[in-house]
Amino acid sequence: MNTFQELGLNEDLLHAITDLGFETPSDVQQKAIPILVDKETDLVALAQTGTGKTAAFGFPMLQKINIDSRTTQGLILSPTRELCLQITNEMKLYGKYCKGLNVVAIYGGSSITDQARDVKKGAQIIVATPGRMKDMINRKLVDISKIEYAVLDEADEMLNMGFYEDITDILSYTPAEKNTWLFSATMPQEVSTIAKKFMRNPTEITVGNKNESTNQVSHEYYLINSRDRYDALKRLSDANPDIFSVVFCRTKRDTQKVAEQLIEDGYSAAALHGDLSQNQRDLVMKSFRNKQIEMLVATDVAARGIDVDDITHVINYQLPDEIETYTHRSGRTGRAGKTGVSMVLVSKSEVRKIKSIERIIKKQFDKKEIPDGMEICEVQLMSLANKIHNTEINHEIDKYLTSINSLFADTSKDELIKKFFSVEFTRFYNYYKKTKNLNVEASFSDEREFSKESNSTRYFINVGSKDGYDWMSLKDFLKDVLELGRDDVFKVEVKDSFSFFNTEKELQEKVLAFFTDFKHEGRFVNVEVSENRGGDRSRSRSRGPRRDDRKGGEKGRSDRRSGSRSENRSTSAGSGNRSERRRSENASKPRRSGGSDSKSSSSGFDRPRRSRR
Ligand code: ADP
Ligand code: MG
Repeated sequence: MNTFQELGLNEDLLHAITDLGFETPSDVQQKAIPILVDKETDLVALAQTGTGKTAAFGFPMLQKINIDSRTTQGLILSPTRELCLQITNEMKLYGKYCKGLNVVAIYGGSSITDQARDVKKGAQIIVATPGRMKDMINRKLVDISKIEYAVLDEADEMLNMGFYEDITDILSYTPAEKNTWLFSATMPQEVSTIAKKFMRNPTEITVGNKNESTNQVSHEYYLINSRDRYDALKRLSDANPDIFSVVFCRTKRDTQKVAEQLIEDGYSAAALHGDLSQNQRDLVMKSFRNKQIEMLVATDVAARGIDVDDITHVINYQLPDEIETYTHRSGRTGRAGKTGVSMVLVSKSEVRKIKSIERIIKKQFDKKEIPDGMEICEVQLMSLANKIHNTEINHEIDKYLTSINSLFADTSKDELIKKFFSVEFTRFYNYYKKTKNLNVEASFSDEREFSKESNSTRYFINVGSKDGYDWMSLKDFLKDVLELGRDDVFKVEVKDSFSFFNTEKELQEKVLAFFTDFKHEGRFVNVEVSENRGGDRSRSRSRGPRRDDRKGGEKGRSDRRSGSRSENRSTSAGSGNRSERRRSENASKPRRSGGSDSKSSSSGFDRPRRSRR
C-alpha cells in the first residue's frame, strides 16, 4: 500500500491532497496514478462509482500538462452536466497550487458564448459533455487539435446515453498521438468497441468492488432431495443455455464423478481438483478460459485462483463444509462489473445453513424452483430462435439453395419453421416430457424453523414481476409505503403477476388496514393473508430461473450475449441415439450435440473452438 507521496506526484499536488484530507490513495488511484505519471500510455480502468476515479486521472493530467502554456492539452468527456461540473470543481481543488491553471466546463443548458469566452482565455483543461462539445467544435469555438490527454469518464454511461457518434466525432478532431484514458464501471460490448477503435495497446486495470460481497451477484437456493441432485444440476444448466459456470463439490471424488457424468451426458464439462497434475490443471483452465468448457466442476481448493471474468453462474452442487467458504465461491461470478448468479442445491436437512450464509454475506437468498421439463423446452426453443435470428448467413449455402428450395416447394413458412425447430425441440421434449417435479415441498415445520420468526404472517399481493418488481424492489416498496424498518418485511417471493411476503404477526392489522382501498399508479393493490406458509406451489407454477430473474440479471445476460460469449454452441441434431447409459432421469437424454463423434465430447477439450468476438 503506497502513500500519495510514493505515487510520484509533485509537491503542488501533494499539498492540495493534504488540504483535501485524502490520507491514502484508493485502489484505482494506487493502480492508475503511477502508470499515468510515468508512462505515455493509453489506459482502460474498470472501477465502480465512488472509488475515486476523478483523482486517478485528474492528478496525473495536472502533473503532465504544461501550465505555462495556454493551449488546451487535456479533454475530459463525461456523460452529464452534473458530473461535468463536479469534475471541474474537483480538478480546480486538485490544482489549487498550480498557478495559472484554467479548467473550463462545457455543458448544455448554459450560455455557449460565456463558455467560449472562458475557453478563449486559455483553458489547459476542458471538461465537457459530448453534445455541447460537438456543438462548440462545429462552431469553431474550441480548438482541441493539440490535445495530449483525452479522458472518457463513465464511458459505459456515455454510451448508454447514445453518445457514441458524438464521441467518435469529437475524437476525430484530436491528434492521433494523444493518450486516451478510459474509465468505466462496466465493460459492455460498446465500451470495448470504443477501446479497440481509439486506443493502442491500452494498459488495463480493474478494481474490485468496495463491499466484500459484490452486489452484482444474486443468490438463489433450490430445495431438492439429495438423490435428485445431479438431475437438478442438469436442469439448471439446460434452463440457462448460455451458461458458463463453476460447479462446486465438496470432495475430489464427487468433483471427478460429477464431471464424468456431465461429460457422458454430452455437456462440455471438466473436473478441476488436487489429484490432477499441474499440467492437467493448466490444460483444464486453458479450455475453460477459451470457453470450450461450459461447466467447470471444482473443489474449493483447486478453484481458489480462478480469475475468469465472465462466469455467468456459480453452482453450489453441495454446500461447503465451512459456510464462510461460500463467499469465495460466489465471488467467482459477478466480476468486472458483470452480473452473476450463485445457485445452491440444498436438501431439507441443510436448508438451515442458508440462513447462516445470509448472515455472512448480508444478503437475502431467493428461493427458486428447479424448472420443469416444459419450461426448459421453451427456454431452449426460444434461445435457438434467437440464435438463428442473429446468425450471419454463410453464403457457401447459396449454391445448394435451388435443390433445397425444390425440396420445400410445397412447404409453407410456418410449416418450415416448425419442422426446422422440431429437429432440436423434439430432442429436449422427448427427454423432458415425462420427468417429474424435482422440488421438495417444504413442510410446515421446516418453514417455521427456517423462517425468521415462527410468529409471522404471510401475505398475498397482486403485483409481480409483470409490474416490474423483483424481490428487492418489492421489499423496498412495501417498507416505504408501510413505513416499516429494514427487516420488517421478509421472505418476499415475486411471481409473474403476484407475490408473497411476510411480516411479524403484530403488523398484520396495520398491513391489511393500509391496503384497504390502496391505489398505486392507477390500480388497486390488493393484499390478503395467504394460506400458504412459505412456498406457493398451490397457486402457481414457478417460472424458472430465466424469467423471474431480476432485471439486472437480464441486463447482464444481454450484455453477455453481445459480449464475448459465442453464440455457436452447436445445436445440431442427430444425437438421440447416444448415451442410453445413465438412468438418472430417464433413458433418453437431451444430448448436448456438440461433436458428432463421441470421443470429442467425452474429453471436452477438442470441441470446435468457440469463436470469440
Ligand atoms: P468516482 O469517479 O469513482 O465515482 P470520485 O472521483 O467522484 O469517484 O470520488 C468519490 C469521492 O471520494 C469524492 O468525494 C472524492 O473527493 C473522494 N475521494 C477520492 N479519492 C479519495 C481518497 N484517496 N481519500 C479520500 N477521499 C477520496
Ligand atoms: Mg466519476
